[in-house]
Amino acid sequence: MCGIVGGIGNLDYREFLLSGLRKLDYRGYDSAGLAFYNNGKISLYRAVGSVDNLASIVPEGHPGTAGIAHTRWATHGGVTVENAHPQRSYDKKVYLVHNGVIDNYKELKAFLAEKGITFRSDTDTEVIASLISYFLNEGESPLNAIHGAMKMIDGSYALAILFTGTPGLYFAKNKSPLVLGRGKGRINCLASDYAPLMDSCTGFAALEDGTYGVMSQNAVIAFKDGRNIALAFSSRDKEDYSYDLEGYPHFMLKEIHEGPGVMRKNVKNHYDAANGYLFDKKLLDQIAESDEIVLLGCGSSHYASEAAAAFFNTNGFRAASYIASEWIHGIYPRPKKPFYILISQSGETADLISCLDMIGEETPTLGIVNAKDSTIARRCSNVLYIEAGLEVAVASTKSFFGQLALMMLVCGALRKDKTVAEGILAAADSAEQVIAMADQIDAISEKFIAARDAFFVGRGFDFFAGEESSLKLKEIAYVHSEAYPGGELKHGPIALIEKDIPVVAFVGNEELSKLIRSNVEELLARGATPYIVSSKGCSKEGDAFVFPEVRPEFAPFPEIAFGQLLSYLLSIRRGLNVDKPRNLAKSVTVH
Ligand code: GLU
Repeated sequence: MCGIVGGIGNLDYREFLLSGLRKLDYRGYDSAGLAFYNNGKISLYRAVGSVDNLASIVPEGHPGTAGIAHTRWATHGGVTVENAHPQRSYDKKVYLVHNGVIDNYKELKAFLAEKGITFRSDTDTEVIASLISYFLNEGESPLNAIHGAMKMIDGSYALAILFTGTPGLYFAKNKSPLVLGRGKGRINCLASDYAPLMDSCTGFAALEDGTYGVMSQNAVIAFKDGRNIALAFSSRDKEDYSYDLEGYPHFMLKEIHEGPGVMRKNVKNHYDAANGYLFDKKLLDQIAESDEIVLLGCGSSHYASEAAAAFFNTNGFRAASYIASEWIHGIYPRPKKPFYILISQSGETADLISCLDMIGEETPTLGIVNAKDSTIARRCSNVLYIEAGLEVAVASTKSFFGQLALMMLVCGALRKDKTVAEGILAAADSAEQVIAMADQIDAISEKFIAARDAFFVGRGFDFFAGEESSLKLKEIAYVHSEAYPGGELKHGPIALIEKDIPVVAFVGNEELSKLIRSNVEELLARGATPYIVSSKGCSKEGDAFVFPEVRPEFAPFPEIAFGQLLSYLLSIRRGLNVDKPRNLAKSVTVH
């Protein structure tokens, strides 16, 4: 899941590579490394920990005419300097950085070991370097050696490669993202996403699987299946990749504040009061003609899809939501005429890409994606962008708002129901007011300071808000947190309730208010400390937090704004790294 950046030509390499890694470290941040090519020789720097640790060992003004760099999220081998990338071939002829997983690395390792080749690291990546070198030593050119290795490798990889004694920045891609950038002046670059390339490049090309090639400062040559292919470079809007904190102390807080704006932007993009909904008719027809809408996602995107499925169901459509990594095991019903919606912030989620492989190209699909031109965006037969702008913090916030709002708008368009667009706008206002009441939420977060466990409970749509809020609390405040529908507590989880355990109860639906409040009484009787977060219309004296009323199906927006802020503020109180929580990476490009 790591990040790759590389460049050749007229660049300040140290600055280009290190600043590029900082823009990619949301993809993984357990160790980092880089290599410079200079006069036929390659110099290597690697460090465990943050990009700052790497920067401290890379000399200023280091000479070079090409460079590659990597920020790692270990899949094979522990977090050590020797396992950090760039990885070298056994004979130091090939240096490369890799994003992905090599499924048959054990077989390849055995194949190379038989030839007497030894290994320094525990990574699957080193095997690729030595395999390419094996083909070089068989007399192949660097390009043919890469192609030879690709034919033997099963798995996912984006590779940036340097060869000792051969100028040129080489690349290869299969199932992991890789973007090439054509520079201003004599520069060519590559990276795992667009952000590190925005300052030096003007034209961009996202590579297709199976592509490999080489770039010099003046040219890019690409191949597929041994044949030369033309790459189409296009421009991108720099604004979409801004890394500016705009005065906020953390990206997560900035992105929480942007959530309501993302909802309004989606309404503006797809609805106007005079003409109604503006979605492509063909897309709406495909959905309407299906016998079931199947929503697939992971993490926060899964919770957005659960709420969206409920919204479709309560509006007269048949919809079901599944965790992508489970759906691929074939254990759920397959409708006769499905319409698939795949939800992913990065558009590179490996589990969703596997779903697409299973769905095939005949069945209609819709990608609900943030990252433009990402793999899922390109592979789905329809795509709608949530237009949330770059989301840097690892924990998703504004993307969730965009995903759910956009799916609800699609449902509104199918029903030609303008109250959906209006409801989303009202929910954006409500969520914005929740964010403005951060002081009240901070006072609640203080009471969570010693909590090791917490519960979120709700019924109906409020339960989905509980699930997403509970995930946030786990991710960034490291509290063991469970989300349960209120009615389910008595069937087991209530056994875990101990004195003072904090329980957040969401009450956004007048009709369900009585039931969930009686569940809260049961918890109180067993010593829990409940915090009721209610919509104004169904609030009662003593509730911990009251948000401006919205229709119950839109209540998850203000409720989740509460959950996001509670988790953020607790994480800060606990002195944690809120934008980069431990063990996580933003874009999950491995299974
Ligand atoms: N499999 C490689 C490793 O563990 C790369 C991991 C990644 O893409 O994050 O070093």
